[in-house]
Amino acid sequence: MDDRQSERKKRIRWGRFLLWICVTAVTVMVVWILLQLVPKEDENVDVLLDTPVELETEQQTETEIETEYAVPMPDIDEQLLTINDYSRPGEKTDALEYIVIHYLANPRTTAQQNHDYFESLKDLQDTSMSANFIVGIDGEIIECVPPGEIAYASNSMNHLSISIENCHLDKTGRFTQETYNSCVHLTAYLAEKYGIDREHIIRHYDVTGKECPLYYVEHEDKWEAFRDDVMAYIEECKKSVG
Ligand SMILES: [Zn+2]
Repeated sequence: MDDRQSERKKRIRWGRFLLWICVTAVTVMVVWILLQLVPKEDENVDVLLDTPVELETEQQTETEIETEYAVPMPDIDEQLLTINDYSRPGEKTDALEYIVIHYLANPRTTAQQNHDYFESLKDLQDTSMSANFIVGIDGEIIECVPPGEIAYASNSMNHLSISIENCHLDKTGRFTQETYNSCVHLTAYLAEKYGIDREHIIRHYDVTGKECPLYYVEHEDKWEAFRDDVMAYIEECKKSVG
């Protein structure tokens, strides 16, 4: 009887021992699982919170870039003049409030020839003259002085404006269709970029009374049409951007 009883007690002890091991093991597993789950949940929350914020920022940046300038940048041949006292002093403008339109008064000369003339003034050292941009007879655009830097074109307006010189075929000073179209495009692009409105798109004539650009001084209606075309161009671009 004693043997059987002690054997039974042994079994019970073993049983309790095994039960204790099982309970302990299960408890340890449950605690471990909980410890694993809790930080993972936090990480997931972070990821879920971070991801949309990042996406939103990227989307906003893309939207800003898309909507900032509706007018596409025209094809511009950048040939910046050497900084010198006669055509590119290298001084900042005070502001960019006006776009001033000119004509070269030198029929049949090309944009390149006029650019090279502006560049040569540093050696000739007797005349000060230049422009930020020159539009050629075939509609080509050469940038001589970057906007925001003074060019010698518009007298008292040099420190507040961007100047655009235009080539022409004859003494009337009328622009070719190609010159006209490029000048409209460039003016629209700059007007939108620098927040310049219709009334601040002016002629050299409006600054000093000089007959420049001649054809658009003699034909006031053509000048008003030019400004209308610039504004219409900006509006069309804004519509197509949506
Ligand atoms: Zn002029």
